[in-house]
Amino acid sequence: MKIPVLYYHKIDFPQKNAIYKGLYVTPKQFKRQMALLKIMGYNTVKPEDLLSFIKGHKLSVKKPVLITFDDGYENNFINAYPILKNLGFTSLIFISTGFIGKKKSVLDERESVPEDFLDKNEIKSMYNDGFYVGSHGINHYYLDRLDEGVLIGELIASKAYLENMLKTNIDFFSYPFGSYNLGVMRAVKKAGYLGAFTTVKGKVGIGDNSYELKRIAVNGYNTILNFLYKIIFLQ
Ligand SMILES: [Zn+2]
Repeated sequence: MKIPVLYYHKIDFPQKNAIYKGLYVTPKQFKRQMALLKIMGYNTVKPEDLLSFIKGHKLSVKKPVLITFDDGYENNFINAYPILKNLGFTSLIFISTGFIGKKKSVLDERESVPEDFLDKNEIKSMYNDGFYVGSHGINHYYLDRLDEGVLIGELIASKAYLENMLKTNIDFFSYPFGSYNLGVMRAVKKAGYLGAFTTVKGKVGIGDNSYELKRIAVNGYNTILNFLYKIIFLQ
């Protein structure tokens, strides 16, 4: 048995001039996907559960799934949060702390369409409601291209910022652009994170590296059958 960790970016209708339209999953698509998971008997788990699973411990829930969001878009709060809550699901949201409460286009210098990011109150309300928060760095840099000092700053300051805001430990990280190498993995561990998520395609299995957790991308071009295929057949 392996655990699927899904990752999303924006739950919204694509902006007209957006270049990366695949990053938008519409609220209707998302609702169908989550309803399908519910019907199939999936249960959302804590990120910590994944760590005990890879170490060989048995999970108490059947059909575990972890739903994650990268970047921290406000549409996660407006469109995804109510759908998840309604089904009794939770999720893990990775925040780039430099974008909190801002309207920016961040993903790529080619993307010119600005997006609204979650503000502090929205992050706090989801956290207080049982949702999980992780770090996605400060500035959404390619971490494998940074000098060590800047790298450590991105990892430690974003963690400290979120910990101070939520009065909790921030134990999980997701690599911006999915970019990492051995040095980045070591720095993430050294900064005190317990695990990190990649964009490497696949499910999480026993014996996997905590700092190289695989995920399954869900994009706006996926039909419900594509989604079902990923959940069931992808290894
Ligand atoms: Zn990102």
